[in-house]
Amino acid sequence: MRALTVLPKSAGTLELSQVPEPPADEGDVQVDVLAVGVCGTDLEIISGEYGQAPPGRERLVLGHESLGRVREAPEASGLRPGDLVVAIVRCPDPVPCENCAAGEWDMCRNGRYTEHGIKGLDGFMRERYRAAPDRLVSVDAGLGGRAVLLEPTSIVAKAWALVDHAAQRSAYRPRTVLVTGAGPVGLLAALLGSQRDLEVHVLDRVEDGPKPQLVRDLGGEYHSGDVTDLRLVPDIVIECTGAAPVVLDALSRTAIDGITCLTGVSTPGRRRSVDLGQLNRSMVLENDVVLGSVNANRSHYESAARALAAADPSWLDRLVTRRVPLEDHQSAFKRGSDDVKVVLQVAD
Ligand SMILES: [Zn+2]
Ligand SMILES: [Zn+2]
Repeated sequence: MRALTVLPKSAGTLELSQVPEPPADEGDVQVDVLAVGVCGTDLEIISGEYGQAPPGRERLVLGHESLGRVREAPEASGLRPGDLVVAIVRCPDPVPCENCAAGEWDMCRNGRYTEHGIKGLDGFMRERYRAAPDRLVSVDAGLGGRAVLLEPTSIVAKAWALVDHAAQRSAYRPRTVLVTGAGPVGLLAALLGSQRDLEVHVLDRVEDGPKPQLVRDLGGEYHSGDVTDLRLVPDIVIECTGAAPVVLDALSRTAIDGITCLTGVSTPGRRRSVDLGQLNRSMVLENDVVLGSVNANRSHYESAARALAAADPSWLDRLVTRRVPLEDHQSAFKRGSDDVKVVLQVAD
């Protein structure tokens, strides 16, 4: 069968390869891949910055934001042929650590976890895969092809779970959220903010294209420019750019009892002079919370599925700005100025 593969840590090695059918030891459930979302992590792997092949193999099958249809499943799995499923990206470490043992592999403590399409396990940009039933999340048939957004939504579902937890500290309930970055993760974070009845603000560099209207259609306000230009003093910031200056400005921007959740991975090396004393002073005197969030466990996939089911289907459709057939894969990895989420379509 066909699969998109790379030689990890070496740029320019992406190719549509012929690979063997998925081995039986991958799991009891066989899944036909329908679609796989493309994200920044894939681009980093393609450019050789990141990625690790499965043990004993040279090439890694790319892709982690999957949507598939069950081809065959044992009765006891609770899954039936035709069911739509999304595979959980991260697998617990072999020890396992306390968190992985409790199903919280997103909080793995020893770093020996594996991730499909990223670290030590093949991804889903291939025609079929097999998985154990407990590695799959069922999605409502009504969600259809939009369920390819489930994995990125699980990332923001976890971020929101952490923010909600922090918001329990006091009687005051946060009212405003600023999301920095209007990529797929930022827009999905804004969606979940609107579902919490918060006043939603989204900041991004671009002034046109589909992003401003996508934000307005959530009832939110769209801003372009710098964080420091905003008159807003948000209770919550969900930082989705990873851009160091934006992170710093966002941190110093929150209201009293503010909560900042960092989800963007920065490139190290950008230095800027910071008055750390002032930053610490305001964080302490204002009871600020700053937390980092990565990845997701099953509970976050499940809450993400509920969030997508409650969203306006046509809004979700507009988040997917291009669907590219597997054979035209090269164009899927070139970012267009109007792209939000590009999806590789493996089958219909
Ligand atoms: Zn991704
Ligand atoms: Zn672990």
